[in-house]
Amino acid sequence: MQDLKLFLPTPIENISLDGHNFYLKRDDLIHPDFSGNKARKLYYFLINDFPNISKIISYGSAQSNAMYSLSVLANIKGWEFEYIVDHIADFLRENPHGNYAKALANGMKLIVNNEYVSNNTQSHDNGILFIEEGGRQKEAGYGLETMAKEIIDWQITNNVQKLNIFLPSGTGTTALFLQKHCYLLNAEVKTIIHTTPCVGNSDYLKEQFFMLESDERLHPTILEPQKKWHFSKLYREHYKIWLKLHQQTGIEFDMLYDPIGWQVLLANMDKLDGEIMYIHQGGVLGNESMLPRYQRKYKDMV
Ligand SMILES: *Cc1c(COP(=O)(O)O)cnc(C)c1O
Repeated sequence: MQDLKLFLPTPIENISLDGHNFYLKRDDLIHPDFSGNKARKLYYFLINDFPNISKIISYGSAQSNAMYSLSVLANIKGWEFEYIVDHIADFLRENPHGNYAKALANGMKLIVNNEYVSNNTQSHDNGILFIEEGGRQKEAGYGLETMAKEIIDWQITNNVQKLNIFLPSGTGTTALFLQKHCYLLNAEVKTIIHTTPCVGNSDYLKEQFFMLESDERLHPTILEPQKKWHFSKLYREHYKIWLKLHQQTGIEFDMLYDPIGWQVLLANMDKLDGEIMYIHQGGVLGNESMLPRYQRKYKDMV
């Protein structure tokens, strides 16, 4: 079993980008292998004991950050880990790299099944713990409640009366639970969560919110992306802002969600009144497979 010390609460730093000042919540620093919002979403399973469980089953894409984080969780717990994908590219199968290679090294068993449909029922039967794609399930709320508390404590200590928080979404689980718990903690400060869809459009994201929470007052605010970007495709403007972030802040961001997040945030600055905090949700381990692709495609950019 691997030892796991989580670095919590995560620090909040000051950064500036193109002359705008932001607070940055460094959830990427939680742990080198188990970081960002996946550590928050899986926190419940990490800190509790499940003597009857011996295996995790989940599904999603063959390079996802969630898949890698689940392999780390399984490793720490001494559980088996089965992961279902609807397909895997020949190149990846023959040349494992990135999250896929690291998850295999942690003992993940990959199953290709293009007819697999999640039945949305989570059972602890037969010693199996079923985790929805990207950790989209109610237990994720537990770790995000602790993040909401960290932020609100910081707001009170620093007398930040009104805070706009921005984070890019995939399943929307992180943004939803963060908004819900900031609202329910009902502190003397105001905390508003803004997000943008990186996978699918705003309607899809809204549906995801409703799967977890029927009370719309607890949903985050959605900022519309200025362009239709396809998830995990390479775009010059994504690479450009990723490089700029690195140059101006010295911090490495993820290459899938953060380039979209920062472009949408910068385009909507006039709509946000008050202080702004960006959540660094980790995911930088996935850059190992993305960065060489960007470097090959945009050789002129450094
Ligand atoms: C998984 C992930 C997201 C998306 O999180 P959701 O809770 O699915 O919205 C965003 N950023 C990074 C870096 C991630 O790894």
